[in-house]
Amino acid sequence: MKSPDHQFCSFCGREKNDVNMLITGINGLICDYCVMQAYDLVSAEMGEEPKKRKPGSGQKKTKIYKPSEIKSYLDEYVIGQDMAKKVISVAVYNHYKRIFSESAEVDDVELEKSNIILVGETGTGKTLLARTVAKLLDVPFAMVDATVLTEAGYVGEDVESILTRLLQAADYNVEAVQKGIVFIDEIDKIARKGDNPSITRDVSGEGVQQALLKLLEGSKVNVPPQGGRKHPEQKFIEVDTRNILFIAGGAFEGIDKIIGRRLNTTTVGYHSSLQRSLGKEQLLEYVNHSDLRTFGLIPELLGRLPVVCHLKPLDAEALRRVLTEPKNALLKQYKKLFALDGIELIVPDETIDYIVDKAVSYKLGARGLRSICETILTEAMFELPSMQIKENTFVLSVEYASMQLEHSDVFKHLKAVS
Ligand code: ADP
Repeated sequence: MKSPDHQFCSFCGREKNDVNMLITGINGLICDYCVMQAYDLVSAEMGEEPKKRKPGSGQKKTKIYKPSEIKSYLDEYVIGQDMAKKVISVAVYNHYKRIFSESAEVDDVELEKSNIILVGETGTGKTLLARTVAKLLDVPFAMVDATVLTEAGYVGEDVESILTRLLQAADYNVEAVQKGIVFIDEIDKIARKGDNPSITRDVSGEGVQQALLKLLEGSKVNVPPQGGRKHPEQKFIEVDTRNILFIAGGAFEGIDKIIGRRLNTTTVGYHSSLQRSLGKEQLLEYVNHSDLRTFGLIPELLGRLPVVCHLKPLDAEALRRVLTEPKNALLKQYKKLFALDGIELIVPDETIDYIVDKAVSYKLGARGLRSICETILTEAMFELPSMQIKENTFVLSVEYASMQLEHSDVFKHLKAVS
């Protein structure tokens, strides 16, 4: 709740630190942003042309964080992935520097967008990184699955629906949307299906890649505010995507073989044994645009995603840290949930090891940690709040954890992967 001496705009709720100016009235305050919006509304009502303003005036102040500041913030939430964090920090810094530098086009040097493509197995933190950056910058964030998209006119969602989600995330504040971050997941699933142009159109593959081009390169797009084609009467909202940062992610299953082949063909002499001497993980560190192209992303799309980066799979040690270390680590969240019922949840080290072991053996990665914890703790979360308990601690022993997991229908049928 906002304290009485806490100053914020009575119209939009923005806090003093987030605006350029707060004007005091008898019973409230109004920020410069709302004043300008009100002025435009009144002008429109009176049939006057709205006043042209300097770009950026009346907008929320956005701090430009230095790459090292972005990385430190990411460190608080994301375990490992140092290289990816550095690459993202620099790309995000350059992106926002480009937006806010008034001299973006002086000397005919045009700063291009730094859209990013992240290559890494599921559950390695791709979405988490994108979401955390958006949180730091306090810009709207939307995530979409590329697999639901289709070329316009076919069953599925049009690419414009991506912007509908961003609009919804920003409460239809178009100015905020135009500086937002979009994460497109499973970009590898819209790879071109084979090299031969087939008789049937590739409406969910290359067709979507083509459709994404106009969003990624920066253009004015008419967005249906309710999304979909169910509301044909809705008025479109124009969104300029020039300054929206797009981060695409995908597992790119099998790309290690493509990288291996490339390294072997491009290296001659004593380097030619490189492929044989590198494991899958090491090969992935060499991923570049040409591999993604061979995988099936079209060059035009890759040209608009200039930053490529690889995320490592999380080993047992990293998974252990994911459970306990980040600011909103899973176990911290469960402890808080129990604490709200007045119960202290104690998770001994050996139980943590057990959970990590299970996540590793089922090959579920960090994503699996949550489902394992949920399975183990559901019964306790169901029973404990309504029990007349005398002791207010709950120790999650390995015996209890394994009993819960073995009795769960989901995990009973999962086979451990060696
Ligand atoms: P993906 O790579 O598939 O996009 P996510 O970022 O969605 O994976 O990760 C799924 C969940 O796993 C996150 O919500 C987070 O709790 C956890 N997680 C994954 N990777 C990390 C990491 N490197 N550090 C901390 N938590 C992680």
